[in-house]
Amino acid sequence: MIELSDVRKRYRDTTALDGVSLTVRKGEVFGVLGRSGAGKSTLLRTVNALERPDSGSVRVNGVEITTLGAGELRKTRARIGMVFQHFHLVRNRTVEANVGLPLRISGAGRAERKARVAELLDVVGLADKAKAFPGQLSGGQRQRVAIARALAAKPDVLLSDEATSALDPDTTVEILDLLRRLNRELGLTILLITHELQVVTRICDSAAVLDGGRVTETGRVADLLATP
Ligand code: ADP
Ligand code: ADP
Repeated sequence: MIELSDVRKRYRDTTALDGVSLTVRKGEVFGVLGRSGAGKSTLLRTVNALERPDSGSVRVNGVEITTLGAGELRKTRARIGMVFQHFHLVRNRTVEANVGLPLRISGAGRAERKARVAELLDVVGLADKAKAFPGQLSGGQRQRVAIARALAAKPDVLLSDEATSALDPDTTVEILDLLRRLNRELGLTILLITHELQVVTRICDSAAVLDGGRVTETGRVADLLATP
C-alpha cells in the first residue's frame, strides 16, 4: 500500500532521511517510532508528497508519487486522510461544516454532504455535536472531528502525525482505540508517527524505529517486543 525505498532528504547541513526503506501493507496499522529530530515528520511529508525526496522511491497504492505533476498529485492526495497533533480545525465553523469541508472542495452536492457528514459523526460518536464549534469541545472531541473530516473523502490510507501527543492519557487511549476500530471496520490502512512507545504497543501491527534518519529496527510489533 505504501512503499518507501532508499528515500533520502537533506536540508542544507542536516540529513533528515538517510536511506529509508519500509513497507506498509494494506489493512495494517504501521507505526514509525522515534525521538524528536529523528526524521518522522519529514518521512510523513514524503508520503503525502508535501516534500519531495532528493532520491529514492515513494509508492502509494502502486503509484510513484515523487515524480507526479500537480494535477495528479492533487488526485492522489485526496485519497490520503491526514490527522495532526493540534487538530487543524477551522475555528469559526461548526463541527458539521469542518467535517463537510473536503466534500465541499470535491464538489459534492448539499444533500450528499449532509448525509455523509451525519454518517461520519455517527462513526466517531459525535452525532450530538454537529452544531457545536471547535472551541466548545474537549481535545479528544476535537480530534474525533478531525478524524471524521479525514475520512470524508473515503481515503485508503490515514496518516497520523502525533495525533495523541496533545491529549491526556485517558483520551489518548480513547482516540487510539477509535483508530484501531476504524482500521478493523473500514479496512483502513494507517501510517502513524509517534515518539511514544505505548502508542505503538497499543494499536500497531508493525513498526519501524527511526533514529538519525535511518531505520534501526522494523518488523511485526510482537516480534520487536520479543527481541531482547
Ligand atoms: P521529527 O519529526 O522526528 O522530530 P523531522 O523530520 O521534523 O523530525 O526533522 C528531522 C531533521 O531535519 C531535524 O534535524 C530537523 O531540524 C530537520 N528539518 C526538518 N525540516 C526542516 C526544514 N524544513 N529545514 C531544515 N531542517 C529541517
Ligand atoms: P512539529 O513538531 O509540529 O512537527 P516542528 O517544530 O518539528 O513542528 O516543525 C515545524 C516546521 O518547521 C516544519 O515544517 C518543519 O519542516 C520545519 N522545521 C523543523 N526543523 C527545522 C529546522 N531546523 N530548520 C528549518 N525548519 C525546520
